[in-house]
Amino acid sequence: MIPALYIENLSKVYGNGFEALKGVSLSVEQGDFYALLGPNGAGKSTTIGIICSLVAKSGGRVQVFDADIDSDFAAAKKYIGIVPQEFNFNMFERVLDIVVNQGGYYGMSRALSAERAEKYLKALGLWEKRDDAARNLSGGMKRRLMIARALVHEPRLLILDEPTAGVDIEMRRAMWEFLQKINAEGTTIILTTHYLEEAEALCRHIGIINHGEIVENTSIKELLRRLHREVFILDSVEDL
Ligand code: ADP
Ligand code: MG
Repeated sequence: MIPALYIENLSKVYGNGFEALKGVSLSVEQGDFYALLGPNGAGKSTTIGIICSLVAKSGGRVQVFDADIDSDFAAAKKYIGIVPQEFNFNMFERVLDIVVNQGGYYGMSRALSAERAEKYLKALGLWEKRDDAARNLSGGMKRRLMIARALVHEPRLLILDEPTAGVDIEMRRAMWEFLQKINAEGTTIILTTHYLEEAEALCRHIGIINHGEIVENTSIKELLRRLHREVFILDSVEDL
């Protein structure tokens, strides 16, 4: 089976000469729940920006299912739902309109977009807020609004950039449950985070990125086993 996402030797040099990605390669299987973990400035958002063609890459290759983003962006775009790190909707627009209008971007009919908007706004607890302007929502609600918007075309791959940063613990757990449910229903999920605890709670595979390089790419189980072994070795050394 082809991977949901395949990235080969991706590089990015920003206009000021800063090398944000230095040959990133990774592959995410269909159906996986994958965490891209790394500290601030590691290159997570740059990687995601390139995958959805918001940021121009300097080199390398990105393939989403069977679509190369260079030669077949129209197909790649339909496969991906993206929840960016920063709120990027019009704060004065109505919640319902934000989700329905997104369907137009994918060439969906108004009726289908409206049906999906209702389904996902309800699933994310925002249906009561549908007539409010987006700016009246709390931070956690705005984040959920972006998730509903990202799902309107029912993408095969959902990518979330630090979806729970600044979200309180109760809301975070609700969001985790929701993501686990849609992953169980077949959507491949990639999220970036700087919480190992979050990766551990949710994901099956993990890539650790630092200074624009992947320093680890493994299953969560294997990573934890290794961490525990290192802690165990450290403990035994201290015992001597
Ligand atoms: P992360 O999402 O992991 O916090 P980013 O991908 O946002 O990291 O940024 C990676 C590095 O690239 C950081 O050092 C950041 O300052 C730098 N960077 C991001 N955007 C730009 C830009 N437009 N111009 C120059 N440098 C940038
Ligand atoms: Mg970021």
